[in-house]
Amino acid sequence: MPIARRLLLAVALLSFAALAATAQQKLDSLADQELPSLVALYKKLHAAPELSHFEKETAAVIARELRAAGFAVTENVGKYDDPAHTSYGIVGVLRNGDGPVVLIRTDLDGLPVEEKTGLPYVSKVRTKNPQGLDVGVMHACGHDVHMASFVGAARLLAQLKSQWRGTVVMVGQPAEEGVTGAKAMLADNLYTRFPKPNYAIALHDSTDLPAGAIGYASGFVLSSATSMDITVRGIGGHGSRPEAGKDPIVLASQIVLALQTIVSREISPFDPAVVTVGSFHGGTRHNIIPDEARLQLTIRAYKEEVRRKILASIERISMQTARAAGIPEHLLPTVTVTPVYAPATYNDPALTARLVPVWKRALGDALVVEASPVMGAEDFGRFGLENREIPVMMFWLGGADPVKLRAARASGQPLPSLHSALWAPVPEPTLRSGVIATTAAALALLVKP
Ligand SMILES: [Zn+2]
Ligand SMILES: [Zn+2]
Repeated sequence: MPIARRLLLAVALLSFAALAATAQQKLDSLADQELPSLVALYKKLHAAPELSHFEKETAAVIARELRAAGFAVTENVGKYDDPAHTSYGIVGVLRNGDGPVVLIRTDLDGLPVEEKTGLPYVSKVRTKNPQGLDVGVMHACGHDVHMASFVGAARLLAQLKSQWRGTVVMVGQPAEEGVTGAKAMLADNLYTRFPKPNYAIALHDSTDLPAGAIGYASGFVLSSATSMDITVRGIGGHGSRPEAGKDPIVLASQIVLALQTIVSREISPFDPAVVTVGSFHGGTRHNIIPDEARLQLTIRAYKEEVRRKILASIERISMQTARAAGIPEHLLPTVTVTPVYAPATYNDPALTARLVPVWKRALGDALVVEASPVMGAEDFGRFGLENREIPVMMFWLGGADPVKLRAARASGQPLPSLHSALWAPVPEPTLRSGVIATTAAALALLVKP
């Protein structure tokens, strides 16, 4: 290459690097400017959590924030299968010329957990749960972290309009914990009433990463989760006369043990799956053989065909074990699958490969780490539609106190997990990284095609 052209190329590369450095500085300084008010917003949301299906005030706060940032906001987006529930879903749209559509999602709901962190901004909220019991309410899954990062990203994207082209669709999703919210929003024609995204991204806080770190994985990252109920029926009678009845407690116990052979004997060891019986209830006292015993199960799997195979095996084992015990046909177990389930979350490998270097540039290599997939579940994957039509990516945002995390790793005593009454993410570094990672990802995707 002639020397003059080489020089020109060097100058071009340098000015590109200088431009990128200026853009990064701008992003950092805007994030730092917004941080105090985002921490305040986080603490306010933390102190006022609402249960799934009841996120009315939370949604109003987020809608106000999006409007203040310049987004066109629509409230009450979503139609639940159960018409008794109102949806508090929010959609905020910001158009900025021709270009890709990027969906950014936060969830809004808290959990029926009585907070025990003792923080100055501890939640003291109590309410009646759907069964009418008095419960404490807490953002024990960190959806308040998600909301504050989401609002921060919305503000920054509005201020950085000169750096991107396309449309940003901010989605505040209700009822993540019951995994009914994403389905409800899509059922309310989310993708025809509002721009259909080319990409969808979301973050989830993590108790296993230090505050401010980002964790990523490609491919399957979260499993599907399906709930199932089995009612095992028998013929009750006196505890001293087993021969006169059919004992549903013994039969249900046999079923629980037989279910353990599904993952170990019927599913390939290369296909992760879990069958957990989380609840087993039957009987009223020592000397009565009851008429029935009830089981509640959760089923986890990555592949849809594995999920279906497990459901079929559970039904087969329940029925045939009952027949082997001599239960008459009209008293065979009833096996019910809860219709709404969370599909597995599959991080699009190309999208993941595109975003990881973006985060490394924005936050530094040390803060961006590869994470392991988990068998926990989320309904965010639904925004990718059937057959992974829209590439989605969910990443982890570390929230743990680094000193406590190091001590926990050294001692082998784990820190409080998500959904724990003691989960207390460290707000400032966590939110700063949440805002920067979300904004940088959106900026990287919102380029003219
Ligand atoms: Zn949760
Ligand atoms: Zn969650």
